[in-house]
Amino acid sequence: MKIDSIKNGIVLDHITAGRSMAIYKNLGLDKLDCSVAIIKNVKSEKMGKKDIIKIDDQFTVNLDVIGYLDPNVTVCIIEDGKIVKKYKVELPETLVNIAKCKNPRCITSIEQEIDQVFVLTDKENHVYRCKYCESKLKK
Ligand SMILES: [Zn+2]
Repeated sequence: MKIDSIKNGIVLDHITAGRSMAIYKNLGLDKLDCSVAIIKNVKSEKMGKKDIIKIDDQFTVNLDVIGYLDPNVTVCIIEDGKIVKKYKVELPETLVNIAKCKNPRCITSIEQEIDQVFVLTDKENHVYRCKYCESKLKK
């Protein structure tokens, strides 16, 4: 794959330098059959350095996962070699089954069928708390 010539796929741009591997893993990109390129430490006027991920296939990305890991990311949808859609991810208000509560006494640790739900309680500091026991989520 030529890095700059995706025909149909997705580009995740403006990833905070160093976070691309976490996004790659958490989105399950290692399970894809198509080409995936991770470009690290790209020089950026705005950010100094940034990471970029290019996925050479149509793939539905979980925006909540990206938003939780790195709310700076821009998602670009590429069709026929052109950007047809471009948007910024946002810090999600709730995380459902994205992270697990570490509190051993939490109901979600005891009852395995319960959804793992975290609620954004402090937007400025990106703090999420478990909906059930209010434990703070650590990244
Ligand atoms: Zn909990």
